[in-house]
Amino acid sequence: MRIKAIDVLRLKRPAPKGPRTPARRPAWTQDAEVANPMSRFPEVKRHRSLWLPRWEGVWVKITAEDGTYGLASCSFGRPVAAIIADHFAPLLVGQEALAIERLWDMMFRMSKPYGTVGLASVAISGVDLALWDLAGKIQGRPVYELLGGKVRDRAFAYATGNDIDWYLELGFKAVKLACPYGPVDGLWGLDENEKLVARTRELVGDDVEIMLDCYMAFDVEYTVRLAERLRPYGLKWIEEYLIPEDLDGHVAVRQRLPWQTLATGEHMYTPWPFQQLITRRAVDILQPDIHWVGGLTACRRIAEMADSAGLTVMLHGGGTHPYGQHLTLAMPNMPWAECFIGSAPGVPLVEVDWTPGTIPPRDGWVTVNDGPGFGIDMPLEWFEPFFA
Ligand SMILES: [Mg+2]
Repeated sequence: MRIKAIDVLRLKRPAPKGPRTPARRPAWTQDAEVANPMSRFPEVKRHRSLWLPRWEGVWVKITAEDGTYGLASCSFGRPVAAIIADHFAPLLVGQEALAIERLWDMMFRMSKPYGTVGLASVAISGVDLALWDLAGKIQGRPVYELLGGKVRDRAFAYATGNDIDWYLELGFKAVKLACPYGPVDGLWGLDENEKLVARTRELVGDDVEIMLDCYMAFDVEYTVRLAERLRPYGLKWIEEYLIPEDLDGHVAVRQRLPWQTLATGEHMYTPWPFQQLITRRAVDILQPDIHWVGGLTACRRIAEMADSAGLTVMLHGGGTHPYGQHLTLAMPNMPWAECFIGSAPGVPLVEVDWTPGTIPPRDGWVTVNDGPGFGIDMPLEWFEPFFA
């Protein structure tokens, strides 16, 4: 079955009505300061929205000769849409649709002249996920079955965000805080970070895991200093403390904090940096993002490499969309699923506007739909061509 067309689309779905249940207070995302790589620049330090790009989502529709199509999303707007429409699509049309490894390798190699990591690997992700959706629809089977079937019926879910009381009410038994302060905030920031973790431990007790996400904000020295401060609170892991390029820094943190579980990977692209992390044994938990790293094909390779090294993979944000849910339930070394909760406290998760086909986390567990492909049912009237 050959590929007949690859269309890059924009979602123009009518705005959902919004939740029936009123919020008790605004979500933490509205106002919370989060330490980040730009925190050293005072004019944008207060909130990530002051510097993050406003690129919209990109949807990819791949149609086979018989009219069956696969649909998937990725991120980062016009540059990613242009890579798919201008470069990948013309060469992939006419290729065998089910030869996903071949198509992935073509995109990986085609993008060499301008660099595969970053925006190109996001573009690869969109095409790869649409191919997996198409493969499932052609065969009338859910993607987790194409991967060999479920290894578990549900995955333990953890909540990411700083509305901890709300996550406890929702039944989560593990929570991940966004660390507010970093090196530029000095000793005061170190104290404030400790107070946040201490308050959280007080609130959740000893039967709930706490993790700390540092969003590329630190250097080796600050990571070590903060981790030593927080050791009494028994963090399950600390995450993404360095910029992704600093492999030697990751190795140094590993050596200086042998007792601390370490995690990273959401801003690493293609399986190659993960191979290096694994070889150097620089972290314990690898966290690729299925929409950025190169799609399901890349995540599966990373999971298999990690499994052979006895390491764990937990997809970045993998618990709150069908792409991550299908893969997580099918991989033996993906025991946990991350659920980023950006909705307001008080609004039940079933009322939140997830990608159609997403089963929201319930009582701290994630499951998956059984529809063909990724089981995403969205009418084509919801979309328009990305480039009109
Ligand atoms: Mg993170």
